[in-house]
Amino acid sequence: MPRDSRPVRRQRAREQARLVRDQERLARLQPGGAPERPLQVESPAQVDVVATASPCPLCGGTLRLEEHAAERVGGVSLRVARLRCRRCGISRSRYFRLVNRELH
Ligand SMILES: [Zn+2]
Repeated sequence: MPRDSRPVRRQRAREQARLVRDQERLARLQPGGAPERPLQVESPAQVDVVATASPCPLCGGTLRLEEHAAERVGGVSLRVARLRCRRCGISRSRYFRLVNRELH
C-alpha cells in the first residue's frame, strides 16, 4: 500500500467536511432556510408541499417531512417544516410565513 494513502484519505475527509459546511451555509441563505427568511405561503397545506419539493441541499436526496410545527420567532408567527433526508439522514428546517390572500 502506498505510504501516502492515509494522509490523502484524511485530506479528502477534510474537503468533504468543508463542502458539507459550505452547502449547509448556502442552504440557510435560500428563502425558507432561516427564520429571518421565511417563504410565504397562503395555507398550511402548502407548507408540506413546498417543504418537500426541493431536494436535500447536501446530497440531492428526497426530504421527508417529520414535523410541521408553529413557532413564534421575534414576534412573527412562523410555520416550521422539520425535514430529514432519506439518503444522507441530515435534518434541516424550512421556515414559512402564512400570508392572507387578498380577496376582491
Ligand atoms: Zn441528503
